[in-house]
Amino acid sequence: MNTPALTITQASCADDYDPNSMPVAKARAFIHQFLAPVQGTLRVPVRTALGRVLAEDVRSPVDVPAHRNSAMDGWAMRGADLSADAEATLTQIGASFAGRPFAGKVGKGECVRIMTGGVVPEGADTVVMQERAKASGKSIAFAPGQKTGQNVREAGEDLKAGSVALAKGRIVRPAELGLIASLGVGEVAVYRPLRVAFFSTGDELKSVGTALGEGEIYDSNRYTIHGMLTRLGCDALDMGVVRDDPKLLESAFAQASANADVVITSGGVSVGEADFVKAMLDELGEVVFWKIAMKPGRPLAYGRIGAAHFFGLPGNPVSVMVTFYQFVRDALLVLMGADPVEPVPTFRATCTSRLKKAPGRTEFQRGVLTRAADGTLEVKPTGEQGSGILKSMSDANCFIILGDATGNVEPGASVEVQLLEGIV
Ligand code: AMP
Ligand code: MG
Repeated sequence: MNTPALTITQASCADDYDPNSMPVAKARAFIHQFLAPVQGTLRVPVRTALGRVLAEDVRSPVDVPAHRNSAMDGWAMRGADLSADAEATLTQIGASFAGRPFAGKVGKGECVRIMTGGVVPEGADTVVMQERAKASGKSIAFAPGQKTGQNVREAGEDLKAGSVALAKGRIVRPAELGLIASLGVGEVAVYRPLRVAFFSTGDELKSVGTALGEGEIYDSNRYTIHGMLTRLGCDALDMGVVRDDPKLLESAFAQASANADVVITSGGVSVGEADFVKAMLDELGEVVFWKIAMKPGRPLAYGRIGAAHFFGLPGNPVSVMVTFYQFVRDALLVLMGADPVEPVPTFRATCTSRLKKAPGRTEFQRGVLTRAADGTLEVKPTGEQGSGILKSMSDANCFIILGDATGNVEPGASVEVQLLEGIV
């Protein structure tokens, strides 16, 4: 890991923002100062690279396309044999199909039947599509108005041999798998998976499979965190529930940071609990504690424990997911080697409900986006928006993002929306 000149706590001291009211964008930018891709790459078969990040440029070993070929079904000829203002009749001397090229040469007054992808034969420089031709045996009449060079794809037109087809840092999606295969490349270098250790903190938490005592609840955060990490392609190391006991917490932090690139915890960073966790983490590493000007997800800690990055998320189940998506996801992508990491795009939709909102913080309400009868996009909240109500995330297909300056939203107003699920 690259060690930046500035340490985390020095940077936070130099900061003129109030840690008790930290704007979302400012916290995100602060974290990004300290991120660099993991060291360590491996070569994998193309299919295995799905969801991973390229650790080296993929260069094309060949021209793409490899041969000059036809973009249409039709006939290939010399452009000079066609007429701009009159029909031209040429003699068909053979055929060039995809994978079965015509062996001869096209001379004056001649043409060759050609299919899309067929190699344009020597001598020919132009293709006329079949809809613009009339065949009568071997005699083919072409409509006027053709241009020399039309419907011909030149060798190397898409990519020249030796040029970069995909740059290092690209996340491999289905399109990249196909593109790499189209070059005849069978293996690529990817960054090794990021190892992320996580645990839940809280005396009230029980794991699934055990009975609940009075005041106890099931630990759901380890399930959402497991899901979010696995979807990102990280190696998720589940360390279970750790009770609010300094000794147990200290050993959990030590073990997690020794075994992972990143440590994520939930709970224990809110007012009251933060104090003893803070004292402990000051011993083990360098951590800053913020109250983010957002809802849900106010308390958040970021720092370093040993060589590992640390994200201390709030305890409430919805806050965990919102802070993960708004702060942790982008950071993990940078650590995974992805570059540049664009924030998930937002767009605007008409809100059909009244939303209660206090200015001075960013809210991430959970919404349902639909298309209205007139074709425009409409959004409404999922219902109860409490930070403990996971159903609000489960019912949602988007966040409704209400910025710091926004107050109450009236029905019919335009709001910013971020989809939870992408197409690829
Ligand atoms: P804390 O930040 O530790 O004060 O927790 C805030 C709220 O989230 C409390 O009501 C906790 O019971 C709840 N909570 C904390 N951790 C979890 C968890 N792993 N699963 C479900 N709820 C949790
Ligand atoms: Mg707690």
